Amino acid sequence: MPIQIDDIYYSYMKKTPLVHEALRGVSLEINDGEFIGLIGRTGSGKSTLIQHFNGLLKPDSGRIVVDGINTASGSLRELRRKVGLIFQFPEYQLFEETVFKDIAYGISKRGYGEAETRERVYRAAEAVGISGALMQRSPFELSGGQRRRVAIAGVLVMEPKYLVMDEPGSGLDPEGREEIFSYVSKLHEDAGVCVILVSHNMEDVARLARRVIVIEEGRIIMDGPPETVFTRIEDLEQSGLRAPETQYLMKRLKTVVPEINEGAITVRQAADEIEKWLLAAGCNPAGGADIPATVGADIPVPAGADIPAAADAEIPVPADADIPATVGAEMPVPACAEIPVPTVTSVDTTGGGICT
Ligand code: ADP
Ligand code: MG
Repeated sequence: MPIQIDDIYYSYMKKTPLVHEALRGVSLEINDGEFIGLIGRTGSGKSTLIQHFNGLLKPDSGRIVVDGINTASGSLRELRRKVGLIFQFPEYQLFEETVFKDIAYGISKRGYGEAETRERVYRAAEAVGISGALMQRSPFELSGGQRRRVAIAGVLVMEPKYLVMDEPGSGLDPEGREEIFSYVSKLHEDAGVCVILVSHNMEDVARLARRVIVIEEGRIIMDGPPETVFTRIEDLEQSGLRAPETQYLMKRLKTVVPEINEGAITVRQAADEIEKWLLAAGCNPAGGADIPATVGADIPVPAGADIPAAADAEIPVPADADIPATVGAEMPVPACAEIPVPTVTSVDTTGGGICT
């Protein structure tokens, strides 16, 4: 059964002059097995909303039912078995003397025997890359990334059906972040766990989530597939967010290559799209041999496009090409086939040239 949220309102510091309405009529249905990215500027209500999922906060009005349990009246113990909530900087909540005890804490009251507890703890630790050798160490002797993983294992050990994570990658180096996301993706794919990921990193959300929900001032303002939400650049910017950087690249490319599909939101999608266009234009990534002279006729460049002067151009321009150094209207760009095309070995989407 899904998570059903009906018109919930929540205020902090109720009945004081400082009362603040953090959720203002949120309605949502989250289906089992989804991977959701929840985004919104700081203070928009993300953390407030997700704390309603496991009953840490209860709505002032409206209701939330998780897998058949009403969070206002049902068993909190049952609820927390189903919903694993990983706070921002979860490592601050570690408190046991050993890594093993810390991970085991969440299942300590379930009545499992020693062998079963051990098996479950080791399985959760392995899922996040914590080796058996670390089990008897104090969590405080570990690196920041390792501590974070121990804290996440302490939630995974409960085998939640819904895994809710508040900025799990923040403060980690790129490698540590990548590791955590790859464990989470695996858990989602292999065990069908429903993941709700709160993140400020649009690139992470674009490549991981299959549904993106945008919250602003306590209200849901967008809800849809990443390809739809992340191409609404202006709306995102109005909400204090940004689209993934790839979107800015694709929109820019679109001004010089009208036939390109600018919908790519991940680096991989952009690379595929650019490669497709290069192939159609006659560049041959497989080795550059045999480029037909007729492929890729004139590609009109809209006025105002930023074309570098020939001296700086990354694509060598033949001497007779008619490209003025200043920006002008309707300039035909020579097709790949008409210029001495070096072997195309890779597509560099990080800002380098297109033909390398
Ligand atoms: P987000 O996670 O999107 O940054 P939060 O849910 O933490 O937003 O906060 C939503 C709003 O509620 C903000 O205006 C914030 O200042 C306020 N708020 C959050 N926690 C508290 C609290 N414990 N007491 C009072 N106001 C709070
Ligand atoms: Mg928050």
